[in-house]
Amino acid sequence: MFNMKQSDKINLVYIASIGHSGSTLVESMLGTHSKIATCGEIHIWPHEIIRQGVLPCSCGKSVIDCEFWDKMLKSVNPLDQSEPQIDFFREKHNAGHTVRLNRLLDFTSKKLDLETERKIRVYAQNNYSVFKSFLELIQVELDTQVDWIVDASKDPYRLAWLARSDLFNLKVIQIVKNPPAFIYSMLKKLPKDKAHSPYHRFYETTRQSLKWSIENELISQAALNHLKAEDYMLINYEKLASQPSETFKQVCKMLNCQFEEKTVNNFRAGNVHTIAGNPMRYQKGGIVLDEKWKKLLSANHRRMAETLTLINRHTYGYR
Ligand SMILES: [Zn+2]
Repeated sequence: MFNMKQSDKINLVYIASIGHSGSTLVESMLGTHSKIATCGEIHIWPHEIIRQGVLPCSCGKSVIDCEFWDKMLKSVNPLDQSEPQIDFFREKHNAGHTVRLNRLLDFTSKKLDLETERKIRVYAQNNYSVFKSFLELIQVELDTQVDWIVDASKDPYRLAWLARSDLFNLKVIQIVKNPPAFIYSMLKKLPKDKAHSPYHRFYETTRQSLKWSIENELISQAALNHLKAEDYMLINYEKLASQPSETFKQVCKMLNCQFEEKTVNNFRAGNVHTIAGNPMRYQKGGIVLDEKWKKLLSANHRRMAETLTLINRHTYGYR
């Protein structure tokens, strides 16, 4: 689209996922690698600025008090950029839409209308400026050269637009979890007044199962139509958690980086300053496969999750 010189492109790893599927673990492992730095869910940054800090940076401070994000803001203010700004697909701090019927064409290989092409160009350029500042500042902060930066925004629409631009050497890691296990994670997050209501549990199971199928399908379509096979990797949470070294070695291979043991053994240490910073940093323990759902999720909810994702869950290895 822009015919940008290969050397001017930014090396960007995009974590694509519905969330609650091991994406935080993958981000932590990436961030621990000496040649990789993550900026977290960067498309939330404008919301963090407007609301004066909601979720802490991974350094523990609010984004408003963190010196690093203050330097970032002085270098590039995302609220001063032309529309569409970097939070275009993130309407609220904590959520963006799952279904955007007028955006489905973006995932195909079809040429888009001129106005959409223009918006994609501006959006990608805005993101490029933010990533470029992040890369420059984080290298000073870490006092080392970084080969890749990670965007853990996860959103499929954002991915389609970044992939359609020509500004990034883009590598995409899609992370999926077995639907009933994912549903179990989501039911656990229900607020107390809803957690015991059969109606709310039913509603949440339905909504999240459909979301699982739709978002994963969109991510796959973006990858299929806009990426080379070698620039895309699917990670199943179950494999990642049971064989973390083997799985992360494949990630390193895709990124042409050397595997480092610490990405598995000391994965909580890596992320320095990330938007919607990573709560794992403050927990302890190694990587373990969590299969509590097998005991604790009711047979009804399990069947519902499996039935509602029937349309594509086999694509991701869930039979
Ligand atoms: Zn910070």
